[in-house]
Amino acid sequence: MTSQTARKTAPLDGFGGEILTPDSPGYEAARSVWNAMIDRRPALIARCRDARDVVRAVTHAAAEGLPVAIKGGGHNVAGHAVCDGGVMIDLGLMRAVQVDPDRRIAAVEGGALWRDVDRATQPHGLATPGGLISDTGVAGLTLSGGIGWLRARHGLSIDNLVSAQVVTADGRLLETSADQNPDLLWALKGGGGNFGVVTRFDFALHPFGPEVMFAAPIYAVEDGPGPIRAWRDFLAQHGDRVGSLCEFSTAGGEDFAWEHWGKRVFTLLCVYNGDAAEGEALLAPLREQGELVADFCGRMSYCEVQEAFDTLMPAGAFRCYWKARYLSDLPDGMIDLAMQYALDAPSDNSLSSLWNFGGATARVPAEATAFGDRSMGWMYSLDGVWSDARDDAANIAWSRGGWERSAVHGQHGRAYLNFPGHGEDAEALSGA
Ligand SMILES: Cc1cc2nc3c(=O)[nH]c(=O)nc-3n(C[C@H](O)[C@H](O)[C@H](O)COP(=O)(O)OP(=O)(O)OC[C@H]3O[C@@H](n4cnc5c(N)ncnc54)[C@H](O)[C@@H]3O)c2cc1C
Repeated sequence: MTSQTARKTAPLDGFGGEILTPDSPGYEAARSVWNAMIDRRPALIARCRDARDVVRAVTHAAAEGLPVAIKGGGHNVAGHAVCDGGVMIDLGLMRAVQVDPDRRIAAVEGGALWRDVDRATQPHGLATPGGLISDTGVAGLTLSGGIGWLRARHGLSIDNLVSAQVVTADGRLLETSADQNPDLLWALKGGGGNFGVVTRFDFALHPFGPEVMFAAPIYAVEDGPGPIRAWRDFLAQHGDRVGSLCEFSTAGGEDFAWEHWGKRVFTLLCVYNGDAAEGEALLAPLREQGELVADFCGRMSYCEVQEAFDTLMPAGAFRCYWKARYLSDLPDGMIDLAMQYALDAPSDNSLSSLWNFGGATARVPAEATAFGDRSMGWMYSLDGVWSDARDDAANIAWSRGGWERSAVHGQHGRAYLNFPGHGEDAEALSGA
């Protein structure tokens, strides 16, 4: 179909947003997503201003028999936010957040980023669990679970989703909550972007911040696994108050002394889910596990923590392939594997991480949400990140290789849908 027929079709009459076709200014920017490997060209991009625009766009796509892709923050590494030849429903103009501090609820439009939520809620001393990077979309991250700093005390993002507004594939605008269409709300909690276009998320808020305790002691991989083992044992006692990951990376840039540049390192990243002074004392031993390459521990505002890593990987700057595996436990053998694997990364920009669970996340019954079972103790993620297309095969092989080799410690058939590779594995689609 041509862009002209798309413009003339009746259901888009009254559309209040922007319609972009391949010859429109702004089309190239609107179709781009976070992963520079993704290069798809929708026939039409519907930049919606409100839920009625979404209804018009969905109805139009159905009438034309066109596939639909929904763009929230555009961060999905498989590029699910954009499709070839179909209708891309771009929610980038719908980022409003309304906070009701008395009811402790934030009403968040479907195209908001986590930055929008944090900046609106923190002036009230309130927060809801998001991710670790502030320019990730609320929608995609939430619909497949949402693993962030506050998971220890307040669970995943979906565990705080109390109601939502959804446009279904047949063009109906539905409210969903514990009382209205509860099955749909259940499905949104971990079922991915498969049940309609969410135009509004309502999240429960919790008192937290503005000052929080952030820990980030950095050790060299060549100095051995001692600090990671100590961190694992520490979290066995304090995992209900500490959202954490051990992240492997390559030292470089102004934050590191030059003699460490190029060294493979790991950072014991933690946010204390409680009072900052209490957290400072509790997390102190994690800084005393050997010779530090660098140390970024300190009290800071929650918004600063949320935005601290945004510049690490700007949108569109890198080619990416990310995989993750849930682990039942974190034995020494898995720590050794992760350390060796970090040394083998073909790109200095790649990251790999061990994430803890437990706490409030683990207390949600499997049948309560479409996310399913919560018995995993840990997750191992491999973020292949590189620049040159000629290095695609080596970097994809590295991410997949670590994912495959960690299977021996994995929970059979379990995958986190937000780190789906390029969507080629059946288990990444099932999520069960
Ligand atoms: C730099 C970076 C950091 C990340 N950090 C974390 C992290 O800390 N924790 C974590 O859990 N994940 C993290 N992720 C993974 C992230 O959760 C997923 O990439 C997620 O898909 C991003 O959501 P989005 O809205 O930005 O993505 P998009 O690509 O816009 O959308 C993702 C999926 O959701 C669908 N969708 C989007 N909006 C809607 C909507 N309104 N209604 C229905 N469906 C919709 C899309 O069609 C697509 O299938 C990170 C990703 C990146 C790139």
